[in-house]
Amino acid sequence: MSIIIKDLHAKIGDTEILKGLNLEIPKGEVHAIMGPNGAGKSTLSKIIAGHEDYEVTSGSIEMDGEDVLEMEVDERSRAGIFLAFQYPMEIPGVSNANFIRAALSSRLPEGQEIDAVAYYKDLYAKMDSLNMDRKFTGRAVNEGFSGGEKKRNEILQMMMLDPKYAILDETDSGLDIDALKIVSEGVNMLRSPERGFLVITHYQRLLNYIKPDVVHVLADGQIVKTGGPELALELEEKGYDHLQPAAV
Ligand code: ADP
Ligand code: MG
Ligand code: MG
Repeated sequence: MSIIIKDLHAKIGDTEILKGLNLEIPKGEVHAIMGPNGAGKSTLSKIIAGHEDYEVTSGSIEMDGEDVLEMEVDERSRAGIFLAFQYPMEIPGVSNANFIRAALSSRLPEGQEIDAVAYYKDLYAKMDSLNMDRKFTGRAVNEGFSGGEKKRNEILQMMMLDPKYAILDETDSGLDIDALKIVSEGVNMLRSPERGFLVITHYQRLLNYIKPDVVHVLADGQIVKTGGPELALELEEKGYDHLQPAAV
């Protein structure tokens, strides 16, 4: 059981951004992707989630044997793919509690409903584990939230939706050390043989708290290097430049 990406090429407008990307994320493992700004990290995560701005020109993405590129965005979510955005969206007029409840409801068979008592019990327990004030249930999704509060809220959504594969795109950016620890603990609590993680980060720091099984480097639209956790430390020390294809 895994997500398998083969020779993925994708463009936005006329610009090719992913240029033959290969990656496999088995269930039960945490894979980190590191890479310079503009390498295509966010592009990759949005394409897996089904963002409509990008055109996949060739290659494939499979999840547990299913063709992900054939699925609509909401099908991908129901099938168990979760993406925590680098810049979480605000959804004015929709409370956090109702937003998560609607997402959970959409997965139930026709006619079945979420039990409200059990739902709030679960929601509050998970908010407590993330040190989130309960007043956030009634507030509009991410509206007026600080950077750290938004990221914490993404982790709450992830905990509630219980995905098979979770992608975190620079969840560490803009977090102070306390928020980083809380977010990382949230992720670590969700590590399981039944779930795969793709953790995207520009900096090694996050990987002190979320220990990856495998580290990949994405540069110029391709995975250019794969290794163990020590690769992250090496990148921290040497930077990304020595990994770029040699200039001609
Ligand atoms: P990363 O997340 O690794 O920093 P991105 O995936 O955000 O990189 O961006 C990869 C490249 O694609 C960059 O050169 C960026 O400028 C370009 N790009 C991303 N989104 C758009 C867009 N909507 N329109 C045009 N170019 C884009
Ligand atoms: Mg970037
Ligand atoms: Mg990015």
